[in-house]
Amino acid sequence: NHALRLAAVGKEYLQGENRLTILDAAELTLAPGEMVALVAPSGAGKSTLLHIAGLLDRPDTGEVYVGGVASGTLGDEARTAMRRQAIGFVYQFHHLLPEFSALENVMLPQMIGGLDRKAASARAQELLDYMRIGARSEHRPAELSGGEQQRVAIARAVANSPHVLLADEPTGNLDPTTSGYVFDALTALVRQSGVAALIATHNHDLARRMDHAITLEAGKIVPLDMS
Ligand code: ADP
Ligand code: ADP
Repeated sequence: NHALRLAAVGKEYLQGENRLTILDAAELTLAPGEMVALVAPSGAGKSTLLHIAGLLDRPDTGEVYVGGVASGTLGDEARTAMRRQAIGFVYQFHHLLPEFSALENVMLPQMIGGLDRKAASARAQELLDYMRIGARSEHRPAELSGGEQQRVAIARAVANSPHVLLADEPTGNLDPTTSGYVFDALTALVRQSGVAALIATHNHDLARRMDHAITLEAGKIVPLDMS
């Protein structure tokens, strides 16, 4: 019962005459509700890993299972549908739509997923409440602080109840105190919803607060001791 499983995943890039191996029979499993920190130096392949786990990119070899379903044999359209339904993304910069309110930003992915306006609105308000930003739901992103914007972005990412939440430096542009509070809210949401979270971060304090940390070494995904 894995939320996410990478099985013998390989990925290389051609750079001129050279083959650059980023992933080499890499293995990773995330259980529902688990939080894993991905800590690796720039250029190690974090983006590549997140893109493959998020079905944005295909591995050369191996298989990616989301919610127990293999993605490799799916065509582009089915993969896109699976990504929209089963994966949520959070980035360092929120990418909220500036002309829409916080509530509408969280409603949109649900309406694209076929939910009616009323149900999407109720769910969006509940998630914003849960992220402790419910009182600001009518505000546009520009009227919110950086921490508030990230809370909205996290609510939006889980709006469709994905199996997997992938985050790339989700608190990277926040000061340490705000970062800690936003991370607390994210943690509560992960534990409550059972989404599995893979969170790339350079922040060792946050990494220590997750269930465990991993890094990339010679194409393998290996445990990282944060103590
Ligand atoms: P990170 O996110 O850890 O900084 P990336 O996954 O972006 O690392 O990239 C890992 C390595 O693969 C880097 O050396 C990068 O230059 C190389 N790389 C990334 N994408 C491509 C590509 N499309 N073609 C060739 N090389 C690439
Ligand atoms: P309470 O102490 O009232 O349970 P919570 O902070 O646990 O307060 O939850 C606030 C609201 O958010 C509740 O309506 C709860 O049902 C809802 N909620 C909690 N977790 C989630 C979740 N993962 N997704 C959507 N709604 C949630």
